[in-house]
Amino acid sequence: MKCDKCNSPAVIHQRYSGMHLCKGHFKDDVERKIKSVIRRHRMIEKNDTIAVALSGGKDSIVTLHILDSLFGRRPDIQLTAIIVDEGIKGYRAKTIETAKEVCKAIGMPLTIVSFAEKYGATLDEMMGQGTGPMPCSLCGVFRRILLNKTAKALGATKVATGHNLDDEAQAVLLNLLRGDVDRLARLVPARVQPGLIPRIKPLRNVPEKEVGLYALLDELPINFDECPYAGRSMREEIREMLNDFEVKHPGTKYALMRSFEKMSEMLGREWVQADLLQCGICGEPTTNNTCQACKLLEMLESP
Ligand code: SF4
Ligand SMILES: [Zn+2]
Ligand SMILES: [Zn+2]
Repeated sequence: MKCDKCNSPAVIHQRYSGMHLCKGHFKDDVERKIKSVIRRHRMIEKNDTIAVALSGGKDSIVTLHILDSLFGRRPDIQLTAIIVDEGIKGYRAKTIETAKEVCKAIGMPLTIVSFAEKYGATLDEMMGQGTGPMPCSLCGVFRRILLNKTAKALGATKVATGHNLDDEAQAVLLNLLRGDVDRLARLVPARVQPGLIPRIKPLRNVPEKEVGLYALLDELPINFDECPYAGRSMREEIREMLNDFEVKHPGTKYALMRSFEKMSEMLGREWVQADLLQCGICGEPTTNNTCQACKLLEMLESP
């Protein structure tokens, strides 16, 4: 099959657009989508310091690469990378090595922060205590707070994550199916809150498969290992459902996000974000007097 733009061999058929694209035109298309979303949501502005949250997987590594190629030579924009070591045996060490390799290759500073160092125990040790919360709940809360603290310490004005179109569409549908409008409203690009570094998602308009193909074509070192705690969740079921719909009705994921963007204007008006307080224990922003991480730490420490 030939590229619809230049007649070179095609590397992809985008069913949702009807286009066959060669390597060069496919990469241009991905970069165009990223630039357009950055511009539309004013994700990156003059004098920003962007901390890219790496996970070692393809999405965050592609985010780092593209941000570096778009903004790496801009004197008014600084880029840096952070990886959180939760302490997951047989998994995290390899992804940290990949993150180091990628950052070294492009001369990007990398900060590694660990649960062990900041919270006194690895995720494996926390789970070994046999306490209530599920691993992903613990991991999610501690990771989010640690990322925010580290980004602040590095002087970052934004934290960039590797969430792609599929992640965003899954999150919208998951929150709708759970009736969780509060979480749905939080997906709307939020207003700036004191102490909370705004998150940006430059890949939110790029389908997951295309992020994978981009990484492959650019020969980026990617880890395909899966976290041993990743289980079968409702999100996984939604992911399969959306993929199935996308095959039968190409463009479903984009249509879902278009609906959400329209709804989000109303959500932003009607669902006013609560003002954040400061955690009485650690000082991080929180909706209550004590943040979720400090509550979980208390729970883990209690006999
Ligand atoms: S699967 Fe769960 S435990 Fe593993 S890294 Fe992701 S959130 Fe953390
Ligand atoms: Zn072409
Ligand atoms: Zn706290």
